[in-house]
Parts: sequence; C-alpha cells; structure tokens
Amino acid sequence: MRLLVVEDDPDLNRQLFDALTDAGYVVDKALDGEEGHFLGDTEPYDAVILDLGLPIMDGVSILEQWRRDGHKMPVLILTARDRWSDKVAGFDAGADDYVSKPFHMEEVLARIRALLRRNAGHATSEIECGPLIVDTKSARATIDGKAIKLTSLEYRLLAYLMHHKGRVVSRTELVEHLYDQDFDRDSNTIEVFVGRLRKKLGVDLLRTVRGLGYCLSEPDDAG
Ligand code: CA
Repeated sequence: MRLLVVEDDPDLNRQLFDALTDAGYVVDKALDGEEGHFLGDTEPYDAVILDLGLPIMDGVSILEQWRRDGHKMPVLILTARDRWSDKVAGFDAGADDYVSKPFHMEEVLARIRALLRRNAGHATSEIECGPLIVDTKSARATIDGKAIKLTSLEYRLLAYLMHHKGRVVSRTELVEHLYDQDFDRDSNTIEVFVGRLRKKLGVDLLRTVRGLGYCLSEPDDAG
C-alpha cells in the first residue's frame, strides 16, 4: 500500500515516514502544501496523512480541491489539540479521520490500518482468503496457520492483493502502489515477484488473468 505524508515539520515528517516505512508501507513525502497537493492529484495513493497548517497551500484547501477533482483516497488529518474548529473544517472538506498533535505514532499506524481496511471493505485487521490469513497489524501471513516467510516487497504485494481480493489488479496498478515515486518502475519485475509469491503461498489462490493482471481469490470463486 502506498501512502503520502504531507507535513511541513521536517522532524515529524521524517518520523512519520520512518514509522510507516517500518510498518511495510511505501511512503512519499511532501513538505509544503503545493507539493502535497500536486502529488495527491497525480499519484494513486491508498491513503494520505495531511497536516492542516502548511506553507503555500493549507490542508483544508488541498483536501477540498482533491475532493472536487474526484480523488477519493482516505485522508487522515493532523490537527492541533485544542482546535475543534479545524477538525470540523477538515471533516467538511472530506477528511475521513483525524489525529491531534502531539500524537503517539502507534495511534497514527492504527488509524491508517483502519482507514485502509475500511476503504477495502474489511472489518478487522486480519484479512482471510481461504487458508491464507494476512494480519495487517503485525504484517504477517499464514497458510493453514503456518507462517510464510516474505520479503518486505512480497508482503506489500500480498497485502495489496488481499485488500483488493476477488478483483483483477493490473500490473501497472501494482507498480503504482508498491513503489514510491522515485523508483525506476519496470512492470516486468512485478511478474517475477508474483511468481515468487505464488510459490511461497503454495496453494492456488493467485491467478494470472491473461492480458489483464492478477487476481487473488478463494478457490471457490476462482472459476
Ligand atoms: Ca504544520
């Protein structure tokens, strides 16, 4: 899953980047409102963390503009603790959740997990697909209760497919959601990673749909 962090405090931006990266997400970051707005407008993010007080363009204006332009990704806003009116303005502009500063990183991580799974229609942090269970909280996967050893990229690939299980996901979409903006994107490598992941899963859950992409689905609805 690919996230955007828009926060002008460089230390806080770095802390968010590190914590989210450690948690297995791909993260792009922006330090002012203009860059943040541009990235959210042009790159397909699975969720955004958006500070409200930003140079050049404020968070509420960014969010209003994104929503007007039809961008529906979940957005978590960062607000000052005692500014209830900021929260109201943020929600009215299209925010999905908020965290007040100063915050505990664990809370931000939990809220992002919740936004991502709700957006994908899942009620808990564990997503199931037949014998396969992916725990998005611990970033672990099991088949029939046995842990599968995955590299961070394989986990990201699996987590993305699990969040979109039952749907065909194209190679281009995977490339856009598994790598950050600076990565030299070659969609052929995705095929290699899918092959490795399929081997590690060892069960027939991950299908290649010729000419379209990949689909992770339960054996029953594979037909
Ligand atoms: Ca700020």
